[in-house]
Order: sequence, then structure tokens, then C-alpha cells
Amino acid sequence: MSEPIPLSVPEFRGNEWAYLKECIDTGWVSSVGAFVDRFEADMARTVDSMQGVAVVNGTSALHLALLTAGVKAGDLVLCSTLTFIASANAIRYTGAEPVFVDAEAEYAQIDVRLIEAYLRDECEIRDGQTFEKASGRRVAALMPVHVLGMAGDLDAMLALGSEFGVPVVEDAAEALGVRYKGKPIGAHPTFATCFSFNGNKILTTGGGGAITYHDRETARAAKRLATQAKDDALEYIHGDVAYNYRMPNLLAAMGCAQLEQLPEYVEKKQAIANRYIDALKSIPGLEPILASPDTEGTYWLFTIKVDPAVYGETARELVARLGQAGIQSRPLWQPMHLSPAHAGARILGGEVATKLFETAVSLPCSVGLNETDQERVIGALRP
Ligand SMILES: *Cc1c(COP(=O)(O)O)cnc(C)c1O
Repeated sequence: MSEPIPLSVPEFRGNEWAYLKECIDTGWVSSVGAFVDRFEADMARTVDSMQGVAVVNGTSALHLALLTAGVKAGDLVLCSTLTFIASANAIRYTGAEPVFVDAEAEYAQIDVRLIEAYLRDECEIRDGQTFEKASGRRVAALMPVHVLGMAGDLDAMLALGSEFGVPVVEDAAEALGVRYKGKPIGAHPTFATCFSFNGNKILTTGGGGAITYHDRETARAAKRLATQAKDDALEYIHGDVAYNYRMPNLLAAMGCAQLEQLPEYVEKKQAIANRYIDALKSIPGLEPILASPDTEGTYWLFTIKVDPAVYGETARELVARLGQAGIQSRPLWQPMHLSPAHAGARILGGEVATKLFETAVSLPCSVGLNETDQERVIGALRP
């Protein structure tokens, strides 16, 4: 049998070894070091924001971003239901409760019309803040998740956010390198943007995350919370119960090397997506999930929808058959409103995400996927 084709594996083509060696040679491997500062600056520059804060993973980035946005126990946070569970868990860590929002059917991103209807019909503004009328609870943040290397309708969300006094915290764990209306995700005037450098993302540090902020003061507050709220390093004075969420210099070194390659990786991902999109035109029953016309997607995880009535196989059957041919593929995440971990949370809509869970399949799209292997995947998709 031919070599297995994985779904998405990391790619190291640049200065990773050199920068890691520098850490080990100099002894700067831990939670402070030149690469941490450099990675934070490089991240901010890459996404056209003001200041980056490097942390241990994307989940801790989301947690800190929500805390710095002022989210507190008992608050409500609007969040995509179609996402990896980390988004919803980060809300729970603050003691707040998620209000899940369905995806729109066309691009699989958060459905802004549902957010708008909820805020207008079920909430009221008091002293510049928004409260859910039925429960009296404050709507403390809107956390859209830009899924699959694309972006949701940020301008519409920013307009609602400013009208209702609700900060927008982006979960951009899958959206590094994505552009919306000509500017990178991270550049738009949201409260904060969160990234992940887990092994399956477009860039990886092994495990890692970052938040980018448009002002240095808030970034400093986030850094303090990531550093056990250490207010006096010599005397061990800590002003709050905080977290040890800092990214070690070793991982930041990886991050610096990986970021240098982002433009090339984005191009590779887009070329892979374009080849799939082209091939799918002649495969009835399979349809790509595309980026919206406002978005230049990276197609971080290239995903198709299967119509079993036309294709002759369900999504789960397709995943199993590809697996037998040594080709790794997978369904999307169980939507949060169906997750046992978040049972009982409110959902606005939900049918679209539920349907995508049933019908969507992500295909191999590693940066290093070559055309021969991709042709093998395409050949296996053809009926
Ligand atoms: C990967 C991912 C995260 C979490 O990132 P980690 O670095 O694994 O903690 C959060 N949200 C989404 C949408 C993700 O895909």
C-alpha cells in the first residue's frame, strides 16, 4: 500500500534549528528571553496590531483575552457553536456562561443575523452595558470563532459590538494569515485577537498561543495575568491570584522561525485549496466550504460538504473509505450545543452547525502536501 497521507502535519523549513540552538547555547530556554520579546513584536507586526502577548497555548490566550475584556463570573458571552471546544471552555474558566450562536450555511462562520436578533429582541442597554432581559445577566463579550482558515463578518460584528457596548474578542486560532476586507485578521479594531500554535495549526511552536491587542496598556495587563500577577520580582509580591501562562523562550524561538515562513505557507495552502476546488467541480455531491467574498482564506483545514443522496456515500462512510486507502480525513467538531461538556447552555439556531457536523469532511492539506499525493486524494474522492 502507498504511504499514508495525513490530514495536516507541521512543516519546518526555516530557522527553527538555528534559533532553538541559540536558546540552548545561551541557556535562555525558559519563560523570559529575547525570542519571547521578538515573537510578541513579530506577531503584532504580522497581523498589523500594536502588541502581542505570547502564552502557552491558544486556550490560555482566549482565557486571558476574556479576563482583560472584563468578563466575570455570572456574565454571558456570545460564541460560535461550530468550534473546537477550547473556545467554550475558556468562557467557563472565567465563570461566565456561553450563549452559543449557529453558523450561517454559506461559509460556515458565525451567523451575525442571530446575534443581532438576540441583542435587539432579548437584551436591553443600561448605562452603556447590555443585559439579557429574561435573566438580568450582563452580555460581557462577543467571541466569534473564525473557523477553517476563513473569517466571519467582522464589520457587522464590530458595529453591533459598539452599539451594544460589547467587546469583540476574536478566536483566530485557525485564522492566522487570513485577510478580511484587505487587512489581516488581527488588524481590525476588535478588543483582542487570539491565536494558537498547536501542532495542527498553520504555524506551530509545538504548543503555544498569542493574543494581539491594539493598545499596550491592555497587553501589559494580560502579560501580568500570565505571569502570576507578579508586581515585584525581587520581593515576590503578587497583587492577584493569576496564572502561569507564559510561553517559554524555546517555543518563542520556534515561533519566530515559523512566522518568517507564514507568507509561503499561506500560498501553499491556497494552492492546495484551489486544486481541490477545481477538481470538485466535476464530482457531483461534494461541495467545498469557501471563504466569503470579503475574505482571503488560508483554507487552514480544507473542508467539503457531502450530499449523500447525490454522492452515494455519507460523510462518515467517506471518512472510513479514505481511511482504508491510507488517506486521513475527519468530520468537523461536534457543535458545542450538542457537547455533553456544555449541556444546558443556550443556543441561538443550531440546525446549520448540526447539519455540518453530519455532512462536512476535512481533507488532507498539510503545507507540505505534494501534487502527486493530492491527486491520490482527489482520485479517491471520484466515484
Ligand atoms: C486550536 C484551537 C483552539 C485552542 O488552541 P490550543 O493551542 O490547542 O489551546 C481554540 N479555538 C479554536 C477554534 C481552535 O481551532
